[in-house]
Amino acid sequence: MAGRPCVFFDRDGIANVAPGAGYVETARRFWVRRAFAEAVKVVKQKGWAAAIASNQRGVSKGVTPLAELEAMHRSLQARLAEEGISLDAIAWCGAADGADPRRKPNPGMILELAAEHGWDVSRSWMVGDRERDVETGRNAGVAKTVRVDDDGLGHNPDRGRPSEADFVLSRLADLPTLLRHALPDA
Ligand SMILES: [Mg+2]
Repeated sequence: MAGRPCVFFDRDGIANVAPGAGYVETARRFWVRRAFAEAVKVVKQKGWAAAIASNQRGVSKGVTPLAELEAMHRSLQARLAEEGISLDAIAWCGAADGADPRRKPNPGMILELAAEHGWDVSRSWMVGDRERDVETGRNAGVAKTVRVDDDGLGHNPDRGRPSEADFVLSRLADLPTLLRHALPDA
């Protein structure tokens, strides 16, 4: 029996303002984006699961302390709790090695989350600000992919580049509307 679908979100540039060329190193510099909270609310109203799958190479490089990463994710859930919602899972990959099966664009994190929670990958969606996120979704076999060219800083290096995504949005503010119209009921 196939489970319910999930919207898998990238973290930096989608859930929170992108860190630019570096990493978000401390929870004090983790700024949740309003449109992300709105998007999660729509996903939940449709009966879908919502999760984050995030590459965090800064952890293995030693620039993002694990305690700070955990504090960021607590603050993210606390922010969503103000809206009466929560993420079903927050997965991250600290590996620096591109061959790691969990490091995006490899699909390991998505497949692992789906197996753990019983989610149906074939009906799921992937949303990210980089083409690598789109590749991740396609490698995992999700139904639809979304690339958002607005990363919160306006410096997204993938902005305007060709995309294999089913939907390309220039503004994160448009994501809740897209999900409201295009995401089927679970
Ligand atoms: Mg990103």
